[in-house]
Amino acid sequence: MTDKKIIIAVDGYSSSGKSSMARALASRIGYRYIDSGAMYRAVTLWAMRNGVVASGVVDVDVLVASLDKISVDFQPMPDGRQHTLLNREDVEEEIRRLEVSNNVSQVSVIPAVRHRLVALQQSMGVAKGIVMDGRDIGTTVFPDAEMKVFVTASPETRARRRYEELKAKGVDSSYEDVLANVVSRDHIDETREESPLRKAHDAVVLDNSEMTVEEQDRWLLDLFNKIISGNED
Ligand code: C5P
Repeated sequence: MTDKKIIIAVDGYSSSGKSSMARALASRIGYRYIDSGAMYRAVTLWAMRNGVVASGVVDVDVLVASLDKISVDFQPMPDGRQHTLLNREDVEEEIRRLEVSNNVSQVSVIPAVRHRLVALQQSMGVAKGIVMDGRDIGTTVFPDAEMKVFVTASPETRARRRYEELKAKGVDSSYEDVLANVVSRDHIDETREESPLRKAHDAVVLDNSEMTVEEQDRWLLDLFNKIISGNED
């Protein structure tokens, strides 16, 4: 086993399962896992609490002027998971709510928000040994990442998974609302000007519509092993 550390970028559509697979890989290979979407969600939660975004409409000037007041960080938990901190408050649960999902893409289009979070994400990768998932990790945050994966699945498959996940957590929602949110976030994420959701030219595509969690974890680990041993074909 080599002790060479690399950067792994896992990008893809909303609810494609990329966070779970990225987290599982990081824990398996002893890398740090960073959920970049959680950072956009934390900024969105701050904007919601401060009346700067509602029903998808953002007061861009106020939010941009407030960015210095918003700090986002992660705290490792005893079970190995990381919790998202907004101004040092643990907001891990709250940022997953559907209201946050319904506003987050509109906050994420703002260039000043992206510049700030991208700089923070880049600083987290300086020592390598990191798995980061998001939308623009392989294209903008770490264009030189040694391993890039782009995860996709049909909108219906993704909405069904997300709906089941929310139901299991006791969150009240309907499949139709979740599907509408997935489709709308895909659209905003793909069409925004600043670092849109796009497959990097050198990313490997994974369509996991027909895969079990175990199969996709195995696929990712196999790819990592190939890249780290220099045997990628
Ligand atoms: O990954 P997750 O679905 O939690 O991300 C929430 C939202 O944050 C996405 O829909 C997208 O609008 C935004 N995002 C982004 N760039 C990233 C990660 C997330 O714009 N790197």
